[in-house]
Amino acid sequence: MWRILKPTSPTAPQAVTAPRAAYLHIPFCHRRCFYCDFAVVPLGDHADGAHSGSIAAYLPLLQAEIAASPNPAPLSTLYIGGGTPSLLTPEQMGQLLDGLRQHFGFAPGAEITLEMDPASFDRPRLEGMLALGINRVSLGGQSFDDAVLERLGRRHRRRHLFQAAGWLRQARAAGELASWSLDLIQGLPEQDLPHWRQQLQQALELEPPHLSVYDLIVEPGTVFERLQQRGQLPLPDPDLGADLMDLTGELLRGAGYGRYEISNYALPGHASRHNRVYWSGAGWWGFGLGATSAPYGQRLARPRTREAYAAWLQTPDAASAQAHHQPPFDEWLMVGLRRREGVNLEQLARAAGLSAADEGSLQALMAPWRQRGLLLVEGRRWRLADPQGLALSNAVLRELLAWWESHQPAASP
Ligand code: SF4
Repeated sequence: MWRILKPTSPTAPQAVTAPRAAYLHIPFCHRRCFYCDFAVVPLGDHADGAHSGSIAAYLPLLQAEIAASPNPAPLSTLYIGGGTPSLLTPEQMGQLLDGLRQHFGFAPGAEITLEMDPASFDRPRLEGMLALGINRVSLGGQSFDDAVLERLGRRHRRRHLFQAAGWLRQARAAGELASWSLDLIQGLPEQDLPHWRQQLQQALELEPPHLSVYDLIVEPGTVFERLQQRGQLPLPDPDLGADLMDLTGELLRGAGYGRYEISNYALPGHASRHNRVYWSGAGWWGFGLGATSAPYGQRLARPRTREAYAAWLQTPDAASAQAHHQPPFDEWLMVGLRRREGVNLEQLARAAGLSAADEGSLQALMAPWRQRGLLLVEGRRWRLADPQGLALSNAVLRELLAWWESHQPAASP
């Protein structure tokens, strides 16, 4: 499964200014998919915000956390994720947006993204959401193959995906929606190259301006982990996994998509501004059960159950959650190297308090990867080469992090 590295600032520590980006977590889903370890509350296949006591009880908690946030400044990006935020009615979503508008305000032209799952909304609900000012939708398609969707534990089917994508395309053609993204998962059990090629081709036929293609990761505690332990989860071997990733890059590049992060591809002008905030060093607010915030660098995750989250909101921890923290070097480095823009190593080293000798040692560690063409240095920016460096990113990053562990005590007071 995808694991968006909820990253901190890869480029540099910045002047301490209030974040202009916010993430809102809506933790409710119809059911828990077999690969998912997110902080979600399954409500059953017929659940909907219109008649769910759980959703009705959660929204005031979210509003309270938003209202208590310090140093509000107008938001340039908002990402409403989950969970399945499209379970909320437009009225409920409107109240949340009003809460944000009253507390923070929105900057002109703010990007407001809503995650929507096929079969969790109809066209009037989409229209209601867009009328609120939501201007970007991320559609959780995952696969065009009903057998695969069944095996993933998804509730929707291929026909729902086509239907939802059709509404999004119409909304975009009518000027009601600025952009939309389609999520797919690669590296699924029994996936081979012809099957994956077919999946990508179907995705391209829908002409999404943005595609997020995540590798399946078997997370602890999931149904997939239990299947794997029983030898019932035939995942592609690493070579095939790399071939699948290469095929993704090749087909999407050929269709005009730029890869601006390891899992994210966009047509010109459609890279997610909110994603870029995660990787730019600007920091973001996070609100809701299980949500992660990093207003000034360091990530802080909230409790993952409703009861614990409600209790946490009453504690001083909640009040200090959005306070200033020292940004962590290792996450800056990891995330920065995976970005097309890369990371300014010199600036980063200075921010982390590394000595010139440490910085030299880090550069020496990286030298063999540079020689092999896996790491590129462009001006002052370092980044993993696409696709060969990105394909080996975990190995490269493991070594870098081991290096950081051994230098951290001296570098981080
Ligand atoms: S719909 Fe998304 S968030 Fe909900 S259980 Fe499935 S993968 Fe997890």
